[in-house]
Amino acid sequence: MKTGEIVSNRVLQDEYYEVKFYAPEICRKTRAGQFVHVKIENLKDRILRRPFSISDVSGDGVLTVVYKRVGKGTEALSTLPAGTVCNLLGPLGNPYSPPDNEEFPVIVAGGYGSAATYLIAKNSPGKGILLLGARSKNDLILIDKFTAAGFEVRTSTDDGSQGHKGFVTELVDRVIEENKDKKIRFYACGPTPMLLALAKMLQDRGCNDAELSLDHLMCCGVGACFACVVKVRADNEDGWRYARTCKEGPVFKASEVYTGE
Ligand SMILES: Cc1cc2nc3c(=O)[nH]c(=O)nc-3n(C[C@H](O)[C@H](O)[C@H](O)COP(=O)(O)OP(=O)(O)OC[C@H]3O[C@@H](n4cnc5c(N)ncnc54)[C@H](O)[C@@H]3O)c2cc1C
Repeated sequence: MKTGEIVSNRVLQDEYYEVKFYAPEICRKTRAGQFVHVKIENLKDRILRRPFSISDVSGDGVLTVVYKRVGKGTEALSTLPAGTVCNLLGPLGNPYSPPDNEEFPVIVAGGYGSAATYLIAKNSPGKGILLLGARSKNDLILIDKFTAAGFEVRTSTDDGSQGHKGFVTELVDRVIEENKDKKIRFYACGPTPMLLALAKMLQDRGCNDAELSLDHLMCCGVGACFACVVKVRADNEDGWRYARTCKEGPVFKASEVYTGE
């Protein structure tokens, strides 16, 4: 458990905000895909922390979280000024394994999923592609950061306001076809229906080392309360078991994700 003083907290785009904490110890230990459990200081009526992926860390100890304002917690967080000291638990969770020199990283992200996967792009030895999907163009975030990291960005929106009109999973096969001479390594983070559809696709295409972050509603964040369980494949009679996303995840191999089949 550490403290993190807010350095800045600003609107990034539409309902998305970017908060920066001075938290050097957490920064030093952070790996892509991990998260911080934030005690939102001005949220009086709730005791539960809120989990947010660590979007970026800097050498001078500044940790960035990008969050969407969706309810009471994120609304309260959006009003905290610079100088507020928050209690942070982290870095928590099982990280992504970084791509090696031979691998071509393809990141599939929905909504805030681009924030959760940005560190993969930033630290990747070879540059790859981000497939970014959202409801509409206002929800497509961090395109500039991925571009600056050398990644090509292809977008999709449900309403067709930017990029391909439809689901981001519809962009996957073309990328596989175009890069069949490369060793593609898939990474993903986004809404659960997107991740389950993607896991099924990747399993069918033999991309079993793909890694998906199954962000699920969670309470304690450290594996004690079992509030955040998801079904994962298991070698037992049922073919599945429950896994805690905070402790055993949030990152799981595509081959582990239980898609009901
Ligand atoms: C490991 C992990 C990493 C996350 N990283 C980010 C991130 O980088 N940026 C970001 O914007 N959000 C992230 N989230 C989701 C974020 O934790 C929730 O949006 C936040 O807790 C909502 O709190 P609230 O009090 O504002 O909303 P509430 O009032 O609790 O809920 C408002 C709405 O949001 C939905 N909601 C609440 N919690 C979650 C959740 N955990 N996942 C999905 N929907 C939820 C509720 O069903 C409800 O519809 C992450 C979640 C997890 C588990």
